[in-house]
Amino acid sequence: MTTIDVDWTRCDAHGLCSRLLPEKVSLDEWGFPVVDGREVEPGLVKAARQAALACPALALRVQSS
Ligand code: SF4
Repeated sequence: MTTIDVDWTRCDAHGLCSRLLPEKVSLDEWGFPVVDGREVEPGLVKAARQAALACPALALRVQSS
């Protein structure tokens, strides 16, 4: 199972993650990401990893168990 979460100590609200992975990440009114914590569908795992790598603050975490 793969999930996404955000390290709030790092996130600077760049918003890039939402642009790269709109299926799983939306932004709140201040530009901070909103993730639902549910499993990332298999077809989106690669895109989720790419979004995590692209995060300028290395704040988006993709974890697989
Ligand atoms: S790209 Fe990274 S720093 Fe920017 S909003 Fe997403 S998690 Fe936060």
